[in-house]
Amino acid sequence: MTHSSEESLRADIVEIGRRLHDRGYIASNDGNISVRLDGDLVLTTPKGVSKGFLSPDMMVVTDMTGRKVRGQRDPSSELLMHLEVYRSRPDARAVVHAHPPVATGFAVAGIPLDRAVLAEVITTLGSIPIADYGTPSTQELPDAVRKYIKAHDGLLLANHGALTVAGELFAAYYKMETIEHFARISLVARLLGRERLLSREEVERLQGLRGAYGIATPAPFCADETTGAAAEEATCQVIQAPSAPGARLVDDALGTPPQPDGAGERKESKDGEIRLTYRELTVLIEEAVKALR
Ligand SMILES: [Zn+2]
Repeated sequence: MTHSSEESLRADIVEIGRRLHDRGYIASNDGNISVRLDGDLVLTTPKGVSKGFLSPDMMVVTDMTGRKVRGQRDPSSELLMHLEVYRSRPDARAVVHAHPPVATGFAVAGIPLDRAVLAEVITTLGSIPIADYGTPSTQELPDAVRKYIKAHDGLLLANHGALTVAGELFAAYYKMETIEHFARISLVARLLGRERLLSREEVERLQGLRGAYGIATPAPFCADETTGAAAEEATCQVIQAPSAPGARLVDDALGTPPQPDGAGERKESKDGEIRLTYRELTVLIEEAVKALR
């Protein structure tokens, strides 16, 4: 395999930084981009500048421990996370880290993007878990990333942002676009009150398509939902997909839809406790107030 020249890689990083900034995936001096060079070297963005306005000469070359080899500027302290990826994934040659607002909102809410919803996301990225929170610039963040990176090309970072990896720079960037786009679609579906999920059987068909189309993914889906999460290092991708033989899509209401006045049968538990949604309770209070007048 021939690798692109360092000159063209510098130009690619400039262009990706501009796109991250234009799309609002980074604010101020956020985010960082890196790519492997031959000879165990890494080319990466400098700290302390907006990645929307880079020039090729601003980049930094480091060794695999993050020590600067060439360049006027210093690398980001978040480079440690990129180096962890390269150590764990010999196939990964590029890493993009940004704070896209909708995906990062999921990361703040503690909601992973791991539901089987969009076939294209299933066949390319698979599931997108949340790596544990780590203080930026410390070893905690690389440690959190290590748990998932062998099985995933895209991660959310708890209360921080997102990370994508690929065999080349633009592929890593496009994965970041896919994560944010998926997060936006998921958010709209959840605001609308329900997501229809792909069935487990359909997800298995899509996994077969990955193979048929030669889509490189780091790991298969977990056979059941518990195998991935408990392990020290994930070796498969946990995906939320209910089994429904013969069905491609399964209805999944995210919450109890509001009941029209008087139509809702109230749920009573075994111990006789009546559970009401906030909306049902509000309606009851309003009715009671009216009755008092
Ligand atoms: Zn960050």
